[in-house]
Amino acid sequence: MGERRLVIRAGRTFLGDSLRAAAIVVEDKRIADVVGARDKVPGARQVLVPDDAVLLPGLVDSHVHVNEPGRTEWEGFRSATLAAAAGGVTTIVDMPLNSLPPTTTAEALGVKRAAAAPSAYIDVGFWGGAVPENLGRLGPLHDAGVFGFKCFLSPSGVDEFPHLDRAQLLAAMEEVAALGSRLIVHAEDPALLAADGALGREYAAFLASRPAESEASAIDAVIDAARRTGARAHILHLSDAQSLPAIRAAKAAGVALTVETCPHYLTIVAEEIPDGASEFKCCPPIRGSANRDLLWDGIVDGTIDAIVSDHSPSTVDLKRSGEGDFGLAWGGIAGLQVGLSAVWTEARSRGIPLERVLPLFTTGPAGVAGLAGAGVIRPGAPAHLTVFGIDDPLVIDARRLLHKNPITAYDHRVLTGRIRRTWLHGKAIYNVTEGGAGEAPQFRGKPRGRLLSARATAAA
Ligand SMILES: [Zn+2]
Repeated sequence: MGERRLVIRAGRTFLGDSLRAAAIVVEDKRIADVVGARDKVPGARQVLVPDDAVLLPGLVDSHVHVNEPGRTEWEGFRSATLAAAAGGVTTIVDMPLNSLPPTTTAEALGVKRAAAAPSAYIDVGFWGGAVPENLGRLGPLHDAGVFGFKCFLSPSGVDEFPHLDRAQLLAAMEEVAALGSRLIVHAEDPALLAADGALGREYAAFLASRPAESEASAIDAVIDAARRTGARAHILHLSDAQSLPAIRAAKAAGVALTVETCPHYLTIVAEEIPDGASEFKCCPPIRGSANRDLLWDGIVDGTIDAIVSDHSPSTVDLKRSGEGDFGLAWGGIAGLQVGLSAVWTEARSRGIPLERVLPLFTTGPAGVAGLAGAGVIRPGAPAHLTVFGIDDPLVIDARRLLHKNPITAYDHRVLTGRIRRTWLHGKAIYNVTEGGAGEAPQFRGKPRGRLLSARATAAA
């Protein structure tokens, strides 16, 4: 036995469908066994999870923009993965754009991996990009291990990552279907978006510039292309709840479709966003409170598969460019560290139990990306675990989050529920109170995250 055994005992452990008393035996970086909470485990070091907390599998976030290399001042692998660990997230899948070069070739993936390797505190996988220039030549990037391909149907916000038109969307679907990969789509129809440029400081003007009809039109196109090609397709960051009936119908008809939404769409509403508060700008936009209620219906009835951060930060200067003009500020919300706390706070206020939302932070996003062994507590899985204090008060202070830039739509929000500690590959990597340092988070050791490859995952 190379390393000492560890047993973590908890009165409430999330074992895939419910919270139950259990003891998790960790050995050689993996979960060796799941036994009764009072079972003896000889020779093991013991950790007791107190009764006011729950033991969860490490969370999975399949939608994160790390931006390194190239725009490392926006976010980097070190800061992003530390923030993730503090949010209970042990696996992220990095988006192919906003870093330079964008991940649209196998060579660019190599550059990304080299940047991530020395700095990843958690496990990191990578999406590739499908852009007009590389259509027909996605094979080498697939072979290099990306988990699938992201495309935009409207301008992405960066010139080096152009969007696909409808014919190109169909071609990309055909190509990923032939590869056995998947296409993940930013679904807004550019024909129904207002032209780029200044919009002023009123949030309502920004919201009107990106109407629900734009999302609905693009989602219809994704469903149609997936149906015609048989490709696995995924709708990124659903904001428009009026598209849920079309998504439900497509899934019921057997289209290989998944859909995600984000904590900001589930917890923030347009009516609350102050004029000039460009930290709330993202695309598609945060919509009104009636829309938010319908999105929650899509969570509860199982139509929505995953809740992911779409952590898309920039520098404060860019987020504030235009001095509060919603047309000129960078569009993207930083939220990697706060997702479960934000969503649990809202779920609890709606009477929705924690175990109903947990799959959307674990097996849901793992399924979206095809990540085997992530987001589960079962023998043989990597020992990625996190402890969530479900009643712990948490007031978000953007300056104290571990994201690289201190600006977020969650600043000053009063939440309930906080990650207390996180293990990665059986090692404690984060402990919020360790060492008597009060509220100061503690990290242990050097970066131990692994770079994940879809090809290796499929073979495992
Ligand atoms: Zn994104």
